[in-house]
Amino acid sequence: MLLLSVFVWRAVPLAYEAKMAATERHEIDDEFKWNTAALFATDEAWEKELTALTAETAVLKDHEGTLAKSSDALADYLELRDKLLQRVEILGIYASLRSDEDTRVAKYKDMDTRAGKLRTKFAELTAWEDPELAAIPADKLRAFLKQNERLASYEFSIENSIRLRKYTLSPREEELLAMSSTALGAPADIAGMLRNADFKWPSIEDEDGNLVQLTSGRFEKFRRSKEARVRRDAYNAALGAYGEVSNTLAAALAGAVEGYVFRARARGYESSLHASLARNNIPESVYRNLIQAVGDNIAPVHRYVALRKKALGLHQMHYVDLYPSIAANPPGGTPYAEGRKMVLDAVEVLGEEYVNDLNAGLDAGWVDVYENAGKRSGAYSHGTKGTMPYILMNYGDNINGVFTLAHEVGHSMHSLRTSEHQEYVNCDYSTFVAEVASTGIEALLQFRLDRESEGAGRDEQIYLLDRFIQDMMGTMIRQTMFAEFEVGIHEMAERGETLTPEAMGEFYSGLVSKYYGPAMIVAPETAYTWARIPHFFYNFYVFQYATSYAASFAIAEKIDKGEPGAVDAFLDLLNEGGSDYPIEQMKRAGVDMTTPAPIEAAMQMMGDAVARLEKLLEAS
Ligand SMILES: [Zn+2]
Repeated sequence: MLLLSVFVWRAVPLAYEAKMAATERHEIDDEFKWNTAALFATDEAWEKELTALTAETAVLKDHEGTLAKSSDALADYLELRDKLLQRVEILGIYASLRSDEDTRVAKYKDMDTRAGKLRTKFAELTAWEDPELAAIPADKLRAFLKQNERLASYEFSIENSIRLRKYTLSPREEELLAMSSTALGAPADIAGMLRNADFKWPSIEDEDGNLVQLTSGRFEKFRRSKEARVRRDAYNAALGAYGEVSNTLAAALAGAVEGYVFRARARGYESSLHASLARNNIPESVYRNLIQAVGDNIAPVHRYVALRKKALGLHQMHYVDLYPSIAANPPGGTPYAEGRKMVLDAVEVLGEEYVNDLNAGLDAGWVDVYENAGKRSGAYSHGTKGTMPYILMNYGDNINGVFTLAHEVGHSMHSLRTSEHQEYVNCDYSTFVAEVASTGIEALLQFRLDRESEGAGRDEQIYLLDRFIQDMMGTMIRQTMFAEFEVGIHEMAERGETLTPEAMGEFYSGLVSKYYGPAMIVAPETAYTWARIPHFFYNFYVFQYATSYAASFAIAEKIDKGEPGAVDAFLDLLNEGGSDYPIEQMKRAGVDMTTPAPIEAAMQMMGDAVARLEKLLEAS
């Protein structure tokens, strides 16, 4: 139940941490900061709410043993739980936003920790709920739903819990599984500690010949360097350093996978993939179709890799050569005001209401725009019913910043519409659908910019088209390759094979050859890529980036072409929040993810873009 809607943007690195003296937060104009005062006017008001909630939540325990008594008793509890939970969530949002503004400030870190403790306390106070609900016969629960209007908004979550009953164990067994969760989470913690705290970044010579120690931010920057020597040094040095600790990281990853396999088997699922997808009732065919359809239609990717090799004038094409732009002169900067206007123009096609709501939200202080000293890197959208859907950005004045804004705005408008149309219990939409709401706006922006660039100079056209293909490469192609790797290592573990660094490295290198084709040299260091990706500890998360990408472009294309009903179907999807299973929601929005068609269409779009880029480059 205690899920926060945080969506962290993936492909575009935003931590341009090159600036030596970052701007201090107080130097930035208030109009570019989010309006957290709308949550709590002062920190004292927050403290008061924490004290009040600590006292008020204690009453939840009094409802233990009452749920089966009557439909009103059940409704009393659920309504109370959600009212309190929403307040607990809002308390946490304030603390985490303030803490992210400047992560060096101990006060907000402490508030964030205390909000987290309240959430843990809340979970303890309601730990009896699941087993008690599970003990009520399904027929009786359904009768309750029928006879009591107050339970209407709970129908989906109750039906969902009934669906999952066959994988629920006895109370004692459930207790044992719950007790094992800290220990089973240890491998991910160990890998995280190694990657974030103990990892020794190597040094390389930069473009000017200065010896520079890599950091996460510098690695992102150097791998896009125009100089092949610099980006390859950065890539080989960094991946090589992961190789040095690959025994530890392999053991940690193997431990995490074993943990998921154990939990799936303990509950009677067919596999860890089945267990993971079952939570959202996603058929396994969705996962398998993705891998199959991308693999069957991979030719444009191979062509693009070869094209890049030629365009960049390389004798050998390495993986890291996928990162720099191939445009000779990338277009100039895009200030925030201009980027904001571009996003608003792009969503015009969604109708006046969407545009006006977004415009009003941006004026009201949804977005924390610029980087400042100590600010959390990256970008996300974060909010709940009863709050603004806040957006954290580190806006750099460039086109990638505009796409990131479009992406996060898509999440925030989803949250806004969900809040307006759903009760709190159904506001927590699934990631599968969330990424459609966000990437869909990126797609609309892409279509518009693509049309507008027709009259632009050749360089700008190449830049925009290449940026788009790179985006697909990072989202559709790389994430599908990750998905194939992930299910592969889970299946190895399920067959009783050991996940050694060598076995995983060999498997990974083979996939790189399959996905990127014969023009690419697979350097030995590439075999260690799995070691730097935290997502492999997330239990089948990455595939959704690829499926959602394909789905969102399919939907956006219908909207862009003016297909009747397409806009309303998309807006309805946003209004539905988490009130149904994602695959059903997407079907109503116009894409059937149980078939390979949306994936094939996305690969076709990639093929068209590569063909256009080939033509543009030939025309020189
Ligand atoms: Zn997102």
